[in-house]
Formats: sequence, C-alpha cells, structure tokens
Amino acid sequence: MKPDLFQAPDYYQLDDLLTEEHKLIRDAAREWTKREVSPIIEEAAQNAVFPKSIINGLAEIGAFGPYIPVKYGGAGLDQISYGLIMQEIERGDSGVRSTASVQSSLVMYPIWKYGNEAQRNKYLPKLASGEFMGCFGLTEPDHGSNPSGMVTNIKDMGDHYLLNGAKMWISNAPFADVAVVWAKNEAGRIKGVIVDRGMEGFTTPETHNKWSLRASATGELIFDNVKIPKENILPNKDGLGAPLGCLDSARYGIAWGAIGAAMDCYDTALRYAKERIQFGKPIASFQLQQKKLAEMITEITKAQLLTWRLGVLRNEGKATSAQISMAKRNNVDMALHIAREARQVLGAMGITGEYSIMRHMMNLESVITYEGTHDIHLLITGLDITGIPAFK
Ligand SMILES: Cc1cc2nc3c(=O)[nH]c(=O)nc-3n(C[C@H](O)[C@H](O)[C@H](O)COP(=O)(O)OP(=O)(O)OC[C@H]3O[C@@H](n4cnc5c(N)ncnc54)[C@H](O)[C@@H]3O)c2cc1C
Repeated sequence: MKPDLFQAPDYYQLDDLLTEEHKLIRDAAREWTKREVSPIIEEAAQNAVFPKSIINGLAEIGAFGPYIPVKYGGAGLDQISYGLIMQEIERGDSGVRSTASVQSSLVMYPIWKYGNEAQRNKYLPKLASGEFMGCFGLTEPDHGSNPSGMVTNIKDMGDHYLLNGAKMWISNAPFADVAVVWAKNEAGRIKGVIVDRGMEGFTTPETHNKWSLRASATGELIFDNVKIPKENILPNKDGLGAPLGCLDSARYGIAWGAIGAAMDCYDTALRYAKERIQFGKPIASFQLQQKKLAEMITEITKAQLLTWRLGVLRNEGKATSAQISMAKRNNVDMALHIAREARQVLGAMGITGEYSIMRHMMNLESVITYEGTHDIHLLITGLDITGIPAFK
C-alpha cells in the first residue's frame, strides 16, 4: 500500500468549533491511525483477519469507552471527543472503528447504564484496557430489522437461567471474551444477559467469505442450554428500548466514523487527480473531475456541520434517536457515494489495494446495512415527522 499522506479537509474552518482538548484527542487518534493502522490494514483486510496487535493502541487512545467515567477505566470524555476518535479510526478502516464501536457503545455502555455496581466493576476496567474484548448479540437469522421478533430466550430455573437461541452477524464474536446478548424471558420481555466465554453450551463460529469489513471478525453466537448465573442479568433496564439505547450511542459514532472514511477517499482522489497526467495535463484540470472533487468536499462539509451539531446536542442530553438516525443515514450514504466517485477518479488504480478507496467502499456496504439499514433510518425520520410508522 502507498504511504499514508492523509491531510484532513477542513473547508469551513470547523477546527474553530473544537476545544484545545478536542484537537489534542483528535490529533493523537490521527497520528496513531497513521502509524499503527495504515501500514498493516490492507494486508489484514486482504487476508480477512482482525489485527489483534492494535487492541492495546485502541485502548491507549481512549477508543474503548471514551465517554465512560474514569472510575470505571473509561476516558471520561465528552461526545465530540468520542466522535472525533471514531472519525479518525474509520479514516483508517471501518472494521477497526466497528471493533471500537462495539466495545464502547454496545458492550461497555449497557453494562454502565443498565448494569449494577458489581457488574460495572467486574467488566468495565478490563473492557477499557482491552484485556477483555466484547460483542453484542441482537440480530438473529430470522430477525434483523425487526429485533422485537427475536426468539432467543431465557428460562428461570430458580437459582440460574437457561439461555437458548442463536445470534448472527455479530462483530467481534469469534474472539470476544464477553457477549452482551438480548433475549426474551418467559413473559416475552427483552432482557440483557452477560455471557462469558467458556460457559458450557456457548459457541461462536466465525462467518467467512465476506467482501466487506474483512479486517473485522464476524460470527454467530449459539446458545444451547447455557446456564447463566442470575448475577449476569442486566437489572436496570429491559424491553426493546434497552438495546436501542446502545444503538443510539453506536450510530452516533458511526455518523462521525463515516466522515473519516469519506475524508480519506476525497483526500486520496484529490492528490491523485493533481498528479495523474492524461492528454498532457493533470486530470484535476478537467471539469468532470473537478465536479466530482467539488461535490465531495461540499458533502463532507455538510456532514461535518450536521454531526458537530449533533455532538453538541448529545453533550447537552438533547439529541433524539431520530436525529441520530438522520446523521447515520446521511453520512454513511455520503461516504459510500464519495468512495464510488473517488474510485473512478483513480481509474484502474482505484480497484487495487495500493490505495484505500476500494476497501473503504466495500466496508461501507456493511456500514450502510448494520445498526439499522439505510431504508429503516429513512422510515424513522418519516415516523418522526408524520407520527405514522411506515415499517410495521
Ligand atoms: C458486517 C456486519 C456486522 C454486523 N454486526 C452486528 C453486531 O455486532 N450485532 C448485531 O446484533 N448485529 C450485527 N449486524 C447485523 C445488522 O445489524 C443487520 O444486518 C441489519 O440490522 C439488517 O438486518 P438483516 O440483514 O436481517 O436485513 P433485513 O431486516 O432482512 O432487511 C433486508 C432489506 O429489507 C429492508 N426492510 C426490512 N424491513 C423493512 C420495512 N419494514 N420497510 C422497508 N424495508 C424494510 C431493509 O432495509 C433491507 O434493505 C451486522 C451486520 C453486518 C453485515
């Protein structure tokens, strides 16, 4: 792969909206991505392996639990800092950001928000340091966009629960030490269950042959009469709102992350267009290529503003789930479109692993589907503005 020459676009001087602390955190994550992710990520993706060597570094830059309080091992940062870290690591690769998102928002967040003090103390410091890696099991083979139909269940056996069922498409599953799993109790109420690796009847087969997020491990979670101690149930919230609360936090991070992927594609295409000579001139001198590049920076700038504002609302505790849906949907679509356009700017070189664009493009095909599909997020906006649900 070519050396990482990334220069972040900031067309509307958005740095002026950030504090010194935000910039320090962002720059540390940017520097780390350049040093530790860029040199190894293409090979990891080509070989479809998650590069475990980056786990310690992710912990050090605060990517595991950025907003989790310091007393539980988190970085205790605000929502803009969290977003900026996600932006920088997805600039490197969406799979790396996915690993961090799952760890922070889908595993640490529910234990922090819905768990008791014993659960927080037992799991959060180890998840923050990367000693434990986690995964989040909501999707099932027959229930993706409609998780409320889930059939995975727990049965009260007096001194413990029995967990049965299966989850599919679970990021980090093949190597996770701990899984936060959503299952229905006998009353049909969705409960959060902490499942530890090693529990009898719990297996995590890996999903192979993905063309997308190849540097992120994906797998199934299979529960065959798994004996769950009662202290492993998250006591403080149940119902579908519990997993959806985690998804709000993760989707917010994805909205920032997608900007990172888009910035990398734009920056790569801009540099290439200025250097590549055809018909005796740099291809950047042709109007059609300028149109592509000008539209890219316009869309990135709009997404940056939308997402910064969402971060302010999150810091004030005022962001709604529907606002988060809008940003996730807009930004991932924007990034995927930019990846496709940038790929064309590079001509044949765009399909090779010499450049990051094709990898970003393939990754974004998962990002536009997971954590609520592009269409479902549109329908959430539709519901929010009309009051009428069009998806059930
Ligand atoms: C790489 C990867 C990693 C993932 N990681 C995780 C993870 O860690 N944990 C986890 O729990 N899940 C994970 N997922 C699963 C992901 O969240 C689901 O794939 C997603 O929610 C969509 O579900 P589905 O694939 O079953 O699609 P479906 O729900 O079957 O949808 C198929 C199509 O139908 C459309 N559709 C569905 N219902 C409606 C409707 N009512 N109206 C209009 N259109 C509709 C959808 O928009 C979509 O285009 C991951 C997925 C991928 C690809």
